Amino acid sequence: MPQSLPTLCGSIMGSPFSLSAKIHNAAYAALGLDYTFVCFGIEDPVAGVAAIRTLGVRGMNVSMPYKTVVMEHLDAIDESALVIGAVNTINNVDGVLTGYNTDYLGAVRALQEVCELNKQRIAVIGAGGAARAVVYGCLQAAARVTVFNRSSERGKVLSSDLGAHWGGGVETFAAQDFDIVINATSVGFKQPDSNPLDGLLASHLIVMDVAFMPVRTALLLQAAELGCRTVSGTRMLVHQACRQIELYTGMEAPIDIMEQAMLEEIQRLNL
Ligand code: NDP
Repeated sequence: MPQSLPTLCGSIMGSPFSLSAKIHNAAYAALGLDYTFVCFGIEDPVAGVAAIRTLGVRGMNVSMPYKTVVMEHLDAIDESALVIGAVNTINNVDGVLTGYNTDYLGAVRALQEVCELNKQRIAVIGAGGAARAVVYGCLQAAARVTVFNRSSERGKVLSSDLGAHWGGGVETFAAQDFDIVINATSVGFKQPDSNPLDGLLASHLIVMDVAFMPVRTALLLQAAELGCRTVSGTRMLVHQACRQIELYTGMEAPIDIMEQAMLEEIQRLNL
């Protein structure tokens, strides 16, 4: 396998975004590793995968909009990524590229910091890539999952693919039927005033938002005001990055240092 110095890791996505580089480089520095993480905004994801092989890139994150298209160009796909239908992490071990999905693990680890998931009644709002990962993770943890989504076609497909219940449009969500509600839509991301569950919450709920910018979204602010326990998208983000660090380095991830780097960068980006 080709070698690069320092050991190179990175991220491929439609337009470059600094957050992963800050999180990963903070982790490598804390672990005393001669690794560098670079963010590549690219137009050709197939050539991007070929470049991993050519340059000997040790680990490559994959972000929007390439999480599905890269899959057929890898040597192996982890079972969870196969079921979810999206790869956000390419692990290069001795030239063999294996695709993983760490988003689902990030969501589950973040939720499990607050509660057990076994038999919990969880409502997931959304039916895109993030929702698929969240639903998969919650089902793996033996929760009872109901999906709500704006487009019923997409929501029904997700529900039947993964074995969740289909609930209907978000307006049909009734707080008393659930223990946990998770916003896995793109509503609220970089939209500090948008709350997809405005007026639909109740104080007994644990409320999670996958949107991670701003850190306290309108949904989480309203939930906290009501007295709900909350789980932020940043906690999911840092946990999924920890799994990437484990895969790329074989070492335990320094989560506190990574979280600090993430929060500083979000603040620098002014959201
Ligand atoms: P997709 O584009 O695949 O899916 C978007 C989802 O949002 C769909 O369910 C869509 O509904 C819904 N949606 C979009 N606009 C509206 C609206 N105005 N009203 C109601 N529903 C709407 O996006 P992803 O699933 O890839 O990403 C979703 C979010 O998850 C993003 O903000 C992303 O940043 C975040 N994310 C967070 C992670 C973390 O670690 N915290 C990890 C990965 C993603 P419809 O089907 O009807 O179009």
